[in-house]
Amino acid sequence: MITSEIIAVGSELLTPEKTDTNSLWLTETLNEIGIEVMLKTIVGDDELRLLETIKDALKRSDVVITTGGLGPTEDDLTRQIAAKALGKELVFRQDIEDGIRERFKKMGREMSETNRRQAMVIDGSDVLKNDNGTAPGLLYEEDGKYLIVLPGPPRELKPMFTEQVVPRLKDLAEDFVVKRRIIGVSGMGESVLDELVAPIYTQYSDVRTSILFNKTHVEIHLYLKAENGDEANAILEEMTAKMADALGIAVFTTKGESMEEVVGRMLFERGQTVSTAESCTGGLVGRRFTEVPGSSKYYMEGAITYSNDSKMKMLGVSAETIENHGAVSSQTAEEMAVGIRERSRTDFGISITGIAGPDGGTDEKPVGTVFVGYADANETRSIKLTVPGDRYLVRWRTSQAALDYLRRQMLKQRGRDKV
Ligand code: AMP
Ligand code: MG
Repeated sequence: MITSEIIAVGSELLTPEKTDTNSLWLTETLNEIGIEVMLKTIVGDDELRLLETIKDALKRSDVVITTGGLGPTEDDLTRQIAAKALGKELVFRQDIEDGIRERFKKMGREMSETNRRQAMVIDGSDVLKNDNGTAPGLLYEEDGKYLIVLPGPPRELKPMFTEQVVPRLKDLAEDFVVKRRIIGVSGMGESVLDELVAPIYTQYSDVRTSILFNKTHVEIHLYLKAENGDEANAILEEMTAKMADALGIAVFTTKGESMEEVVGRMLFERGQTVSTAESCTGGLVGRRFTEVPGSSKYYMEGAITYSNDSKMKMLGVSAETIENHGAVSSQTAEEMAVGIRERSRTDFGISITGIAGPDGGTDEKPVGTVFVGYADANETRSIKLTVPGDRYLVRWRTSQAALDYLRRQMLKQRGRDKV
């Protein structure tokens, strides 16, 4: 069996500030072509540790992939250390330097001398060209063993790997593939969900099923290693359909999409538009909508109306409503939704008002009390939620609930249209 391992290089990856996502993506991509990843290591920018790690990796794995440490600065060591681990020299390539110089020129800048380092390649290696950055990658092959050196930025690494590395590794791959599905479920707790799907997944002993909570929703991960990709897909398809049937409207995706992608697609397909008025989420719903490319087709605008005054001034919420029911109330949420919808002239208006904490809760309305409002041309409604968690989670879960509320209302609307 072909084994592979990944080495993520960079001291920042050892801190809470920066997560190593490259290895996760690489693992998934390698799995898809039937190469199993057995190990990953995160190494700081330290010469000796990096050298030891690469050497050890080459001893035990057929395919060793490093990411990061290809920048032009002193602390970027990977190129040089990888050469050392292989017992090879670094050689200068004029054509690479010319390419980098050209790239800078296009941006109206001079190439700095430090960038010349990036034109050094391991003797005998193949150069992987980088269309999205300056540092080329390297692929060194000897006796069926591979050392593949990739840049750190995901937007550089991903196309380089799929276009230039995958075709070379494909033939190595064993006669198995790994297929996955991620089912996203919103508005249902883990235990209820498990009760509903356990009768299904227990019948598929070859499929590894895991149920996990992911900040805003629950995910069911299905993982199947099989010899035949089509058969594996068919099994997962069947299982996914059964689960979607058992869970009903709570399933928002069977393809691992985010809630904002799903809702955005629904809006786009119907040619409808939405605007948002947010209080305790401070624009998070707007941010999530606009993170999806193409969202300008359906997301028109959002107001962050944090104070009572702003809710009145920007959305036309009445002073009496706030006086009589409070800013955190179904009445206020509904007036906010109507207000933003009318002002933005959108098909839907979505609003949020709540108490994210840690302060501001009362006995009657504890921290986590949230109202989500909804308005379309025919009706106005709201729901009250009691969202568990700290301020961060309350805000994220609320944003999810608001997006999901819109999704569910749209599905209901479609149901009505059909009648
Ligand atoms: P480097 O090639 O080490 O100069 O890294 C350049 C940038 O790529 C870093 O600042 C990170 O933002 C990003 N990066 C490096 N390694 C990783 C990784 N394993 N996962 C995600 N991003 C990374
Ligand atoms: Mg680095």
